[in-house]
Amino acid sequence: MDNYSPEIVRENIRVIRENIAEACEKYGNAGKTELMAVTKTVPPEVVNWVFGEGIYLLGENRVQEYLGKRESYDLKEHSGILPQVHFIGGLQTNKVKYIIDDIDMIQSVDSLKLAQEINRLANAHNKVMDVLCEVNIGGEDSKGGIPPADAVSFIEQLAPMEGIRVKGLMTIPPPVDSDVYFGRMSELFNKIKDRNIEGVSMETLSMGMTHDYVTAVKYGSTIVRVGTGIFGSRVYR
Ligand SMILES: *Cc1c(COP(=O)(O)O)cnc(C)c1O
Repeated sequence: MDNYSPEIVRENIRVIRENIAEACEKYGNAGKTELMAVTKTVPPEVVNWVFGEGIYLLGENRVQEYLGKRESYDLKEHSGILPQVHFIGGLQTNKVKYIIDDIDMIQSVDSLKLAQEINRLANAHNKVMDVLCEVNIGGEDSKGGIPPADAVSFIEQLAPMEGIRVKGLMTIPPPVDSDVYFGRMSELFNKIKDRNIEGVSMETLSMGMTHDYVTAVKYGSTIVRVGTGIFGSRVYR
């Protein structure tokens, strides 16, 4: 914990909030954007500071890391709000079983095989898992996600699954030309929303990280996922 300071985390969050609020106002986003704290490599004691700053949404990337940290997270109600934990990293089908019970949303669904396994386990555990379809908006080989052209048919395949509720889209765009890629995501999101697919409620557009969250807000992001902007540079141990 030596590299982390509660004062710095507090100040970081204050500035990010201010930037989000400013962008919401400027672009008529009506303050719909929620700030997620992305926790990878950050010790749980430090992650817990964010609850005192009014952030109640955590983003987890790695199953093993999450399993090691979740017992230490202070996930009780804070100011009447129960914190939520979303899975946002690449997810192997054989690891769904470890997170099916206590993750609130899986944002990184990008294959039918993965969706089928989430559906199977959710049914077996008597729950409905909220999911986002991850879209590879830049068509990059290095990134997960469904090609944008396949997103509609993919979501139509997920829609009838009883253990899954599709809530929207997530993306990690290329690091350049943010306006172009977020603009395309916004169009795709609205196109799918306008189709009114039964069993699908398009509410969530998860995009924007430390370097591009303000642009993401401009294009209607409802969740910005910020790691280094809150906690500082990641230290890999
Ligand atoms: C790490 C990560 C983030 C946060 O990235 P920062 O640049 O640290 O804000 C957001 N989304 C995903 C999927 C990530 O893996």
